[in-house]
Amino acid sequence: MVYLITGGAGFIGSHLAERLLERGDTVLLMDNLSTGSMENIRHLKKYDRMHYFLEPLENRHLLAELVDESDVILHLAAAVGVKLIVESPVRTIETNVNGTQSVLEAAARKRKLVFTASTSEVYGKNTNVPFHEDADLVLGPTTKGRWSYAASKALDEFLALSYWKEKGLPVVVARFFNTVGPRQTGRYGMVLPNFVGQALEGAPLTVYGNGQQSRCFCDVRDAVEGLLRLIGTDKAIGEVVNIGNDEEVTIEGLARMVKERTGSSSPIEYIPYDQAYEPGFEDMFRRVPSVAKLERLTGFRPRTPLAQIIDRVVSYQSEKRAGAAPLAFDMAPVKSDGGAQAEHVRSRT
Ligand code: UDP
Repeated sequence: MVYLITGGAGFIGSHLAERLLERGDTVLLMDNLSTGSMENIRHLKKYDRMHYFLEPLENRHLLAELVDESDVILHLAAAVGVKLIVESPVRTIETNVNGTQSVLEAAARKRKLVFTASTSEVYGKNTNVPFHEDADLVLGPTTKGRWSYAASKALDEFLALSYWKEKGLPVVVARFFNTVGPRQTGRYGMVLPNFVGQALEGAPLTVYGNGQQSRCFCDVRDAVEGLLRLIGTDKAIGEVVNIGNDEEVTIEGLARMVKERTGSSSPIEYIPYDQAYEPGFEDMFRRVPSVAKLERLTGFRPRTPLAQIIDRVVSYQSEKRAGAAPLAFDMAPVKSDGGAQAEHVRSRT
């Protein structure tokens, strides 16, 4: 099968590409490297079934061509990370809304199955955990930049579901809950890579607020498995499905676990939200997925324990710091034949 992955050089996208290539599929990967990076996919260049295009989704001619060549479109390109969203709301809204619109429009012309990545952020301030897919979305005011992410992703969902209802385009929408693992960068504010980096450096672990807010962290391998199972069943078409692990931890508890598992003596530092993000910033207190629907549709639920997830991130970051190629994370050595790899790069930059 041929899969087009938008955002394929991103954190989840690169793990997905890796998995598909390992099992023998062909991957067309489109990424403008805004938050993704070549480092995430360099180890995949050894596959002659991998073709990457460093282009934005606004390149509609290229997008149309790649959709044409694909059997399934996995749309993961998006502006992510609360820090990025708070700092660049225009980019967030435009990337998320226009990008999804372009992908759906191109896919509809050829009637190709589209997987659209959404986020648990859409549940907003709903306090009724665990979150079921049909729960109300409780967003804050438009004057608070954070909510632009949830609103833009909710619009993506409406758009995808409308393409299904009105035009019969097969779509699957999944809401990812705090997906973490090797290769995730702390640059956009994500908490686990931040804490691990701080612990390894001996720097204070920066807990925002009082640390009593909670999250559920899902190993990226489980997230990829959930995604692949969903696109493998007709029962998921036209559905919105949570993909997450329901093991809940407070952020203060996470900081303690990271300290313990790294053996770090870093102190924990509490930073008020308005200093960490912006004045008046609103956080979600708890965020727990119901995975009943995922399990009912696919027979699968993410189960990797948090301790194991943390250990994988610690090993990855430690090896990266030591300058070694982090082979332990499915990162096979890059082929030394640069010329041969270049043939498969059909980038138009
Ligand atoms: N957080 C934190 N320290 C950090 C980064 C994030 O305490 O260095 C908090 C953040 O305020 C939120 C939680 O950790 O309550 C998860 O943040 P992240 O950005 O990883 O994901 P979110 O769940 O907000 O999308």
